[in-house]
Amino acid sequence: MKPTPIKPTPIRPGSALAAEFWEQGRSASCPVINIHAHPGPVYSGYMPNCRPADMVRELRKVGGRLMCVAPHSALFAPEIGNAEAESIVEEFPQEIRAYMTINPQYPELMLRDLAGFDKKRHIYVGFKLLPDYHRVRLSDRRYQAVFEFADERGLPVISHTYANSPYNGEAEVEKVVARYSGLKFIMAHCLKANWRAAAAIARQYPHAYLDLTAVSGQWGAVDYLCTHAGSEKMLFGTDSPWYGLHQAIGQLLSADITDDDIHNILHRNAERLLNLTDSEG
Ligand SMILES: [Zn+2]
Repeated sequence: MKPTPIKPTPIRPGSALAAEFWEQGRSASCPVINIHAHPGPVYSGYMPNCRPADMVRELRKVGGRLMCVAPHSALFAPEIGNAEAESIVEEFPQEIRAYMTINPQYPELMLRDLAGFDKKRHIYVGFKLLPDYHRVRLSDRRYQAVFEFADERGLPVISHTYANSPYNGEAEVEKVVARYSGLKFIMAHCLKANWRAAAAIARQYPHAYLDLTAVSGQWGAVDYLCTHAGSEKMLFGTDSPWYGLHQAIGQLLSADITDDDIHNILHRNAERLLNLTDSEG
């Protein structure tokens, strides 16, 4: 006997966008830009589908347009540094751009990389900071060179942010965004889980943005951020390959927000931030 197919409960009834994602796993009018991903293996754990080719395949499945990456090697292996980031973008120039990862524990490497940045704008969209892992506070003067560089050029800086962290908590984030208004500061993980502070900073500072990485699975967080900061300040990120794209998209489709908000989050804001041509949707 054939099993009876389970009929899914429609999410967001009446939404053509939700129906399209539900049925096709993607939407022709709503491309996906993932602004937070880390290609490459992590040797302390099992990470399937972490090769750039696997990640591009997953991106295509959801109708993805682009992902912005900082390979694990750039975060954790200073002797490799940003080399892998560059080769990955060269391999997938349509779908991948990189952040230049900055580790201020190695100032001579940082200055060398910064000096080469302007010639590599086809590779890099901005900078990635990991203050708590690198054990340097955001407001530490060792970060000053990169903030000034990004500030002069109006570039995005995506930084790991977590509630109560002495390295990248609320107080440290606020010091930086208050001081540098020319750069675009992306709060990766939205100060997990102090959504209130993250939304307040995004609302107060036009150049501060919320990256939804780490919001996945947190009931009500998307709705809260949308109400208190606005969908124009929210960016879609997933920490792939740590987390999957469909789950994160599903969370947006299940939230009590509008289709217009979803377009803002999935692609429009990133298109503006990265100076990409607009999609139709
Ligand atoms: Zn990350």
